Amino acid sequence: QEEYIRKPDWLKIKLTTNDSYTGLKKMMREERLHTVCEEARCPNIHECWAERKTATFMILGDICTRACRFCAVKTGLPTELDLGEPERVANSVRTMGLKHVVITAVARDDLKDGGANVFAETVRAIRRKSPFCTIEVLPSDMMGSIDNLKTLMDARPNILNHNIETVKRLTPRVRARATYERSLTVLKNAKEMYPNIPTKSSLMIGLGETKEEIIETMDDLRAHGVDILTIGQYLQPSKSHIKLVKYWTPEEFAEFKEIAMSKGFSHCESGPLVRASYHADEQVNEAQAR
Ligand code: SF4
Ligand code: SF4
Repeated sequence: QEEYIRKPDWLKIKLTTNDSYTGLKKMMREERLHTVCEEARCPNIHECWAERKTATFMILGDICTRACRFCAVKTGLPTELDLGEPERVANSVRTMGLKHVVITAVARDDLKDGGANVFAETVRAIRRKSPFCTIEVLPSDMMGSIDNLKTLMDARPNILNHNIETVKRLTPRVRARATYERSLTVLKNAKEMYPNIPTKSSLMIGLGETKEEIIETMDDLRAHGVDILTIGQYLQPSKSHIKLVKYWTPEEFAEFKEIAMSKGFSHCESGPLVRASYHADEQVNEAQAR
């Protein structure tokens, strides 16, 4: 019998539902689109979709060629490349009246370009249909190829986000195929290609990392030019996913934010419910004002 750590009160939140949300969910099914907000059952969905007018789409299908041990996305060999997806995402962004959109994708290691062309086309289609919506991209490392990264960066997203996910020591245990160094290189390359496009990375904690390791990760990200950092609590999607070791407290998250700001990040969101895309609309405005 395995022992489970009790969920602390600050993570117990009630999900409410309303009509506009149901309508949007229906649209997602009809358009064959996937959002992280729904698939990850993100607790922030009402705040994001209804109040903040922001959402996170997952493109290039819902089957990933990798199997990171914290991630709830299905693993397998994707069979198709949906070339109509960029336009359908752009239509939905317009229908939802989004002010900020995050576009992420499964890792398509089966494609030579890692999906970079469809990714870039999605950015351009959103720009055409919603010129005032800011666009944040959150790609995988796209096999570390500089050409793939350039294809995406040339579409000029407003923010390039690439997740470091965890500290160096735990990376081989937590992530599949991705390495700590390669992710840092992706972030550095993006900054070198377009110095004016803010870069961002996210760290999930609660996997057994120490405070010192978290701080070391901050230093590594800053050394590779990263502007924005988000830190959130890992929540184990199921028993078969990597084990949750610790719930960091809201006070500890607040302290990490302070430390991050002292390291020179332009923005840091740090809290138990913070996700890579949480309050992303604020970050882009601040980054642009700098
Ligand atoms: Fe969606 Fe991100 Fe908001 Fe969660 S925090 S609802 S994943 S946009
Ligand atoms: Fe999940 Fe991304 Fe890892 Fe695929 S590459 S398993 S989508 S975290």
